[in-house]
Amino acid sequence: MANIQRRKTVTASIGGVRVGSDAPIVVQSMTNTDTADIPSTVKQVAALARAGSELVRVTVNNEEAAAAVAPIVEELAAQGVRVPIIGDFHYNGHILLKKFPACAKALAKYRINPGNVGIGRKDDSNFRTMIDVAVENQKPVRIGVNWGSLDQVLLTKMMDENSRRAEPKEARDVMMEAMVVSALNSAELAEKYGMRPEQIILSAKVSGVQDLIDVYRALAARCNYPLHLGLTEAGMGAKGIVASSAALGVVLQEGIGDTIRVSLTPAPGGDRTEEVRVGQQILQSLGIRSFTPQVTACPGCGRTTSTFFQEMAEQIQSYLREQMPLWKDRYAGVEEMKVAVMGCIVNGPGESKHANLGISLPGTFEEPKAPVYVDGRLFTTLKGDKIVAEFRQILDEYVESHYAAKEKEEAVAR
Ligand code: SF4
Repeated sequence: MANIQRRKTVTASIGGVRVGSDAPIVVQSMTNTDTADIPSTVKQVAALARAGSELVRVTVNNEEAAAAVAPIVEELAAQGVRVPIIGDFHYNGHILLKKFPACAKALAKYRINPGNVGIGRKDDSNFRTMIDVAVENQKPVRIGVNWGSLDQVLLTKMMDENSRRAEPKEARDVMMEAMVVSALNSAELAEKYGMRPEQIILSAKVSGVQDLIDVYRALAARCNYPLHLGLTEAGMGAKGIVASSAALGVVLQEGIGDTIRVSLTPAPGGDRTEEVRVGQQILQSLGIRSFTPQVTACPGCGRTTSTFFQEMAEQIQSYLREQMPLWKDRYAGVEEMKVAVMGCIVNGPGESKHANLGISLPGTFEEPKAPVYVDGRLFTTLKGDKIVAEFRQILDEYVESHYAAKEKEEAVAR
């Protein structure tokens, strides 16, 4: 694992999941179903949890959604899905949490947006109502500032103050500072109204990579609450994945961040669980946490004869992902296994030797045989049209012989 010095924070517990300080960085996700549609929401939460989401947030935007929360949590429990459910509130959270006590009780955490909870009011009574309910139910809160819904009164005040300075700052810098101030002021108020510091998590989401880096560095330097990271409105496909990875990668490397979410816009009918896999992959690529065995595959080039090599890399990757739910309970440490699937002799044997298990497929004009390496040594050479099946069998045997033994050793040590 990477040698990253994590920022010291208080440690929160969200429905039994520890967040902050030396606790593992948690991957969370959010549903996009209508929360009031109980069967669809249960189905999607279960899929996100199966994909590895350790916390799942649902929007609680109206009375129907608030009424559905407790039945959703009950049904998930009946199905054996134990993932904590977080309620995402905007504008009317103070009304919904009061009117639907079962919802307030069933949720593991409330997300409060300080930019819109007290909109149109001169006092903080709406915010206070939400905090009172959280204190009454002993639930943690996330004070989630978002630049798309930043407290306009605060921003205007800070912009005015800035314009009166001898050397005014850039408007962008004032906005970043306003986000930090909004989060910190709200946290201070929450503590004043009875919350303990370890019941508070902060976030300050923006949609630009450099903005995210700046705002989280500033927030991290000025408090010791756990921080939830995410690029808001990251976007679709490669753009969303790359932007989130670039932004989160920088701050995570600096030890900042205790939970993460990758806010991808799915293609119509697309798979919502992609955001979980991307979040896990960011942490695994940085060497922070391992979730699934990794396949190293070369990009292929003119030396590869056909699409066979790409298909094989894909099949092995899918196979590993499918097996993980079964393997992770049986084989301790299997998530750290590395498998190489390479396209020709140039880098194939070398890369394969660095992996636990590697196969180097024949490139153009090479002899039609595929050497397989196990723990850096030539193990066998495969030929013919059953290479994938035979390699998978070697893979299964490797997992059984290496990781089941580890499980037994750990049991003996216990
Ligand atoms: S290992 Fe071979 S096939 Fe793969 S990219 Fe390198 S030269 Fe091309």
